[in-house]
Amino acid sequence: MSRSEHVLIVGGGIGGLTAATALAQQGFPVTVLEAAPAFGEIGAGLTLTPNAMKGLDFIGVCDKAVAVGVEPSRQRFQHWRDGRTLVAIDRSVQRAKYGAPYITIHRADIHDVLCTAAREAGVDMRAGSPVVASAGSSVTLADGTTVTGDVLVGADGVKSVIRQRFEGEPPYFTGHVAWRCLVPVTPEIQDLSDFPGIIIGPGGMISRYNVRHAKILNLVFFARQEGWQDESWTTLADPEEVRGIYAEWCSDTQRLIDAAFGQPMYKWALNARRPLKSWVVDGNVTLLGDAAHAMTPFLGQGATSSIEDGIVLARALSASGSVAEGLARYEKARHERTTFIQLESNANADRMQGQDTDLFGIEDMKDEESLGLFTYDPRTVAV
Ligand SMILES: Cc1cc2nc3c(=O)[nH]c(=O)nc-3n(C[C@H](O)[C@H](O)[C@H](O)COP(=O)(O)OP(=O)(O)OC[C@H]3O[C@@H](n4cnc5c(N)ncnc54)[C@H](O)[C@@H]3O)c2cc1C
Repeated sequence: MSRSEHVLIVGGGIGGLTAATALAQQGFPVTVLEAAPAFGEIGAGLTLTPNAMKGLDFIGVCDKAVAVGVEPSRQRFQHWRDGRTLVAIDRSVQRAKYGAPYITIHRADIHDVLCTAAREAGVDMRAGSPVVASAGSSVTLADGTTVTGDVLVGADGVKSVIRQRFEGEPPYFTGHVAWRCLVPVTPEIQDLSDFPGIIIGPGGMISRYNVRHAKILNLVFFARQEGWQDESWTTLADPEEVRGIYAEWCSDTQRLIDAAFGQPMYKWALNARRPLKSWVVDGNVTLLGDAAHAMTPFLGQGATSSIEDGIVLARALSASGSVAEGLARYEKARHERTTFIQLESNANADRMQGQDTDLFGIEDMKDEESLGLFTYDPRTVAV
């Protein structure tokens, strides 16, 4: 693809900004259209595993992400009833094992790092630009303006407008709900911050990890719940609802719920997408991140996959003689892996919440690390 050809990206989330930065660094003119009035992220945490960090290294921001994130030395799975440690994971070996760190980070912090990198790379970043329709490699904004690129990339999340070019189906509700909350690390929960992890039990699990120099603990309470299908960062929840759901769970659980009182807690229906047959329409339109493969968060690989997508897309377009060839090479490199992760992510919910907790970890354990996901390197994978 010629360096004069213009890449138009819809969506300035983690995936869109990673792709934009990587493409601009490869010498392409890039525009990002973001619906929100300003580039920003929601108040919640993320784990970024070594495969994502290698992608961030490709665009020169791995160390910057580590500087504003937290590198845990250990994590654990705990039993829901008595809180005993079922499996402990040594995270201090991640760099030596995979050549990149494993971090937990506030979403706004990684987003800031990516925004700065995109601006420095010369990306034309346009906030307040909601896309309402697209045709060919052009999009129409809510105010009627048309913007055209030589290649159009839908990085516009689970409810993607650009995905409507690929299928008419809306996202599906997975049957899982998450309550998300950030709490200050106080003496009452210091031990839970010092040894973070996941408490697992029948039909539910509770994830906790540190962000912001381990001064803040990110909490996510997951449960299966029908009838609630809203995905909104503005739906405030009452921690009493969570208390009721986890009433029989261990004292560590109760301390985490106590910590959540007085902090804003948000209720979040988990929607996902089924794998698409093809990631390219008309030879010049593609998708990445949640727009392409929104998945359940039970392997913590959604944002990570969007980072991988962005790097591989930039490398594929860069290495190709035409847009169509570049997009075909991108799809070939990414489709199988993301489909595998989507399916395994669903299966992981059942592995963690659907079995007898007493048996957890006795057999070979399957998680994002043992599935081999961390060895992937978007910097060098064949395109
Ligand atoms: C509870 C929970 C926990 C999670 N934990 C993890 C984790 O630990 N690790 C991990 O890797 N992933 C995790 N994920 C998944 C992760 O949040 C997503 O996979 C990731 O945010 C996807 O990034 P994206 O850039 O593809 O999409 P998004 O983050 O959704 O960004 C899309 C962007 O496009 C913009 N946009 C949307 N529509 C339009 C439009 N019409 N016009 C212009 N702009 C538009 C939006 O405003 C947004 O800025 C979790 C998800 C949930 C729900």
